[in-house]
Amino acid sequence: MNASDPPSPLLRHTGDALHLPPLASVHSHAFQRALRGRTQQQRGTFWSWREQMYRLADQLTPEQLYAISHYAFVELALAGVGVVGEFHYLHHQPGGRPYERRTVLAEQVIQAALDAGLRIGLLRTAYLRGDFDDDPAPAQRRFIDPDPDAVIRDVEALRDAYAGNPRVRVGLALHSVRAVPVEALAELSDYAEREGLMVHMHVAEQPREVEACLAATGYRPVQLLTAHNLLHSRFVAVHATHLAPEEIDALGQARAFVCLCRTTERDLGDGLPPAGPLLRAGARLCAGTDSHAAPDPWEELRAVELDERSRTLRRHAAADGAALLAGGTAHGYAALGWDHIPEGDELVLDGTDPALVGADPARLADGVVFGATARAVRGMRVGDRPVISHGAHPGLPAARKAYLEVLRELDF
Ligand SMILES: [Zn+2]
Repeated sequence: MNASDPPSPLLRHTGDALHLPPLASVHSHAFQRALRGRTQQQRGTFWSWREQMYRLADQLTPEQLYAISHYAFVELALAGVGVVGEFHYLHHQPGGRPYERRTVLAEQVIQAALDAGLRIGLLRTAYLRGDFDDDPAPAQRRFIDPDPDAVIRDVEALRDAYAGNPRVRVGLALHSVRAVPVEALAELSDYAEREGLMVHMHVAEQPREVEACLAATGYRPVQLLTAHNLLHSRFVAVHATHLAPEEIDALGQARAFVCLCRTTERDLGDGLPPAGPLLRAGARLCAGTDSHAAPDPWEELRAVELDERSRTLRRHAAADGAALLAGGTAHGYAALGWDHIPEGDELVLDGTDPALVGADPARLADGVVFGATARAVRGMRVGDRPVISHGAHPGLPAARKAYLEVLRELDF
């Protein structure tokens, strides 16, 4: 073994089994699972995709949201994911009136994850306006709160409701610089800092977001956050795609997390994030399945490196297998509020899976990250609960039936 290529401390080989922590999908919008394969016709952009996503979001009942989310989470479990970060922004009834129980939709998503056997970081999302100066589109009214106090009230209600549940963490999400004015960003960030909560935010996903932010504030998105002292080590920048060099440095100096969601970012035509420079600057990598456009959290990890090769025309451009595995597990748990991987959480891969046969024992992390697919998942425990046994999830048949029924009910 090469001294510069240490084995991953996260990975053990016993017999024909490979033991490692479950993967963390740090950024998910579970209801968007229903869009997979349904947005691949006609030309368009991120913004035209968003119209179709809004049509779906505007129809969902609490029961339908549960069914889609539960199926999405069972699918993630089968692929080796043990903890999911749900960036939850669907809060209110169609038209915008809060439900009698304000947090009912967040609770549906949390219950869906628990029923699938996962841990969940529920990131209750602040969404206060349609765009920098625009009135909200009709479908956005379900996402919108009048002020930061309403957001904080729901975060507090959720924290109280799940305080005794070791499988649930509640954090704060700030939807984007488009959807949250800077004064509210500061107020909500102060609250999160006082309470020690993780803060997740969509950052610089699209050039149009950067241009609009410059026009409205005089700053690019990460410049704006820096100018208001809003970056820190509990900040999770999702996408972090269109960055100026000083914005890369700022995320690194803050020791922020960057959550890349490569299959969704490819699907939406977002562009290529500067993964290598971000990691070399000190940012901590994690990954997410985001819109569930593609079915494979292993691809999310290797794509961080492979897409950086496409961007830079170089090999070994961002991270090796061990670093990607750390990003996909320990950093992911940390980005969702678990300082360490809880005892009992374990994933077992089948070393005889056709894609893993012959993996070099001295470079096992490379063999796993660049080779594994969901097919290799043999078993998974989350805490005291066996979630996957012999490659199967006992909840799959019922979850699939309910999901297919909901798809028949919807029109989007
Ligand atoms: Zn997102």
